[in-house]
Amino acid sequence: MLDFMKMCEASNPGEPEFLQAVSEVAESIKPVLEKHPEYRKTKILERMVEPERAVIFRVPWVDDKGEVQINRGYRIQMNGAIGPYKGGFRFHPSVNLSILKFLGFEQVFKNALTTLPMGGAKGGSNFDPKGKSDNEVMRFCHSFMTEIFRYIGADTDVPAGDIGVGAREIGYLFGMYKKLRNEFTGVLTGKGLTWGGSLIRPEATGYGCVYFASEMLTTKNDSFEGKVCLVSGSGNVAQYTVEKLIDLGAKVVTLSDSSGCIYDEKGINKKKLEYVLYLKNVERGRIKEYADKYPEAVYTPVDPALGYNPLWNYKADCAFPSATQNEINGKDAENLVNNGVKLVAEGANMPTTPEGIEVFLDSNVLYAPGKASNAGGVSVSGLEMTQNSMRLSWSREEVDNHLRRIMRDIHSACVEASEEYGTPGNYVNGANIAGFVKVAEAMLAQGIV
Ligand code: NDP
Repeated sequence: MLDFMKMCEASNPGEPEFLQAVSEVAESIKPVLEKHPEYRKTKILERMVEPERAVIFRVPWVDDKGEVQINRGYRIQMNGAIGPYKGGFRFHPSVNLSILKFLGFEQVFKNALTTLPMGGAKGGSNFDPKGKSDNEVMRFCHSFMTEIFRYIGADTDVPAGDIGVGAREIGYLFGMYKKLRNEFTGVLTGKGLTWGGSLIRPEATGYGCVYFASEMLTTKNDSFEGKVCLVSGSGNVAQYTVEKLIDLGAKVVTLSDSSGCIYDEKGINKKKLEYVLYLKNVERGRIKEYADKYPEAVYTPVDPALGYNPLWNYKADCAFPSATQNEINGKDAENLVNNGVKLVAEGANMPTTPEGIEVFLDSNVLYAPGKASNAGGVSVSGLEMTQNSMRLSWSREEVDNHLRRIMRDIHSACVEASEEYGTPGNYVNGANIAGFVKVAEAMLAQGIV
């Protein structure tokens, strides 16, 4: 495995996030490769770390002042062995090849876990929607689609949202795709309800994460009733994680954005959550304004010199990182454990560093890696594709029932795989192994392609 990682480092220089994601999977699946010489002989893992296709392109657009702006667009089609490529677009200034390859790689395993036929991909741009007018966002999205439309399609690659890409962006992207192709197909998911979207899709990642965490608590005969929870982020995933936690009787005391975090000891109730949705989805304001509106809440700005995130240093029972990668480092993980946290379920992708994961596993925290616990979003995206193919729409209850079942199945798959390979209770190994085996079997059957 050492040689394998050396090879990866040599062929992917300057891609720390991608190497971090690969190294975690490679470590988990060691016993699987030992048991299956056919996977080693056909170099399944070596093939999996090489994207099937990576497209990088120029995205020129004109801002409101008439000035020409240029961003970089990407689509990484990582693995299509079990279905059409599927994975979101991220629009954020930090986007680069390493981040999208890590996200695409994670997506392959996550999608395999959902029980639905979807390959893995990821894409996006270093475009920052923050502070841009609606017209600027529209012009950017239209320009982005004029190139990427060649590589996607309802049976080829079906993108969705991620950081910085919500209902507004999906609308603009879909509009341009439809115009260019002159066809109305389910080429994107996260669409509006009147034009092919699915009920529960906006809620799916947050709800799914809480359903997964509930399954974990059930293994300990416990529930969310009365639990104090820390949630980071204040975007799509965070918003619906909070909603479901409130429904299940928990008290959520934190939220954040890239500028800082709020702590509301009394708890974020439904009325306050409604304000957060308005603040973030309509006004597109900052989380600091929560503390202006509700003076009982304390706002703490980000301080990079601190070396840890104050949000993870409050007393609580459970934590739901729902903002971005590597937001929990080793020190944060220690703070969480010292403050009584017994469960961590990741809404974000790879929010915990390898040092942080080690702390959780050593402390017997119930720890769910994002590729298992945040798979609800892509699962309902898969259900949106099914509804589009059938040209009908399911009720809210129907989709929610499917989502619950899928999260329960993913939980069982993780538990069974971790037990079969000798590390019961280790959801990291469970998720990596269960996802890997499904894709590996398909690759084996399809030969060297
Ligand atoms: P949104 O854009 O809706 O929200 C992202 C939130 O995280 C915002 O509050 C944002 O703050 C904050 N954030 C983003 N980057 C940083 C950063 N570098 N440091 C601190 N805070 C940051 O995105 P989503 O809620 O959709 O995504 C959140 C996470 O969940 C991501 O890791 C994503 O990959 C993952 N995910 C999302 C799914 C989905 O269905 N949407 C599915 C599965 C996983 P600010 O506004 O200041 O940037």
